[in-house]
Amino acid sequence: MANSHPLVDRGAAVSLTGQDLHLSFGDNHVLRGVDIHVEAGTTTTVIGPSGSGKSTLLRVLNRLHEPQQGDILIDGRSVLKDDPDQLRRRIGMVFQQFNLFPHRTVAQNVELGPRKLLGLDKDEARALAIAQLESVGLAHKADARPSTLSGGQQQRVAIARALAMHPQIMFFDEATSALDPELVKGVLALMTDLSEQGMTMIVVTHEMGYARDVSDHVVFMDEGMVVETGAPEQIFTDARSDRLKTFLSQIL
Ligand code: ADP
Ligand code: MG
Repeated sequence: MANSHPLVDRGAAVSLTGQDLHLSFGDNHVLRGVDIHVEAGTTTTVIGPSGSGKSTLLRVLNRLHEPQQGDILIDGRSVLKDDPDQLRRRIGMVFQQFNLFPHRTVAQNVELGPRKLLGLDKDEARALAIAQLESVGLAHKADARPSTLSGGQQQRVAIARALAMHPQIMFFDEATSALDPELVKGVLALMTDLSEQGMTMIVVTHEMGYARDVSDHVVFMDEGMVVETGAPEQIFTDARSDRLKTFLSQIL
């Protein structure tokens, strides 16, 4: 049942919409009117060639970059007039590089956000961190330094750290791209778990198995635009545009 899992126990799932999003860096028009809609409790994967604007789209959707045109809505309500920090706290992000603090323990990495931003005291934050680490199978590493963990374990800590902030939405930006092949599976399993438990997610990935088998919706971007979008079956077996056909032929 959606939202009953300890990983995703953060109230009702929300939808996320980006409408006609534009962003330029100088002369480089990186997002050229992107529309994306993620239904509450569903996972959308974003695929496309390097440089097509996938990472920039995620950064605009959580307002790390302000869109120069367009709107961002949660549950149909524009959030552009709100405090950007408020939006960022509703969205957990996991990157290719885990960015754990090396001089802190695994548990301290997870505790930090809840202590600073959710106002939890030391004991509460520790309890939350341990529970969150348990949910990613790493409670036994709570007092280890990140550098003593494998890349896959470090990424699972990064996911636990994001989940500890009780986000309503999760973004993954090539979360498995830096991992050795044998470590990818554990991280994908965790992402699959989150999808199946009804987290609203946008997943930028080159893992076509995940896109095809786990996600509800696929968005193909090229040159700052959404070229094609649809259910995984359609994208992977009945691509319409030549650009998507070419992209798939190169990676599958
Ligand atoms: P993708 O994630 O699909 O590989 P990106 O969103 O990272 O693509 O990049 C899209 C384009 O935006 C690239 O041309 C890149 O050089 C440019 N870009 C991304 N971030 C910045 C930035 N902070 N400053 C200037 N240009 C950027
Ligand atoms: Mg990228």
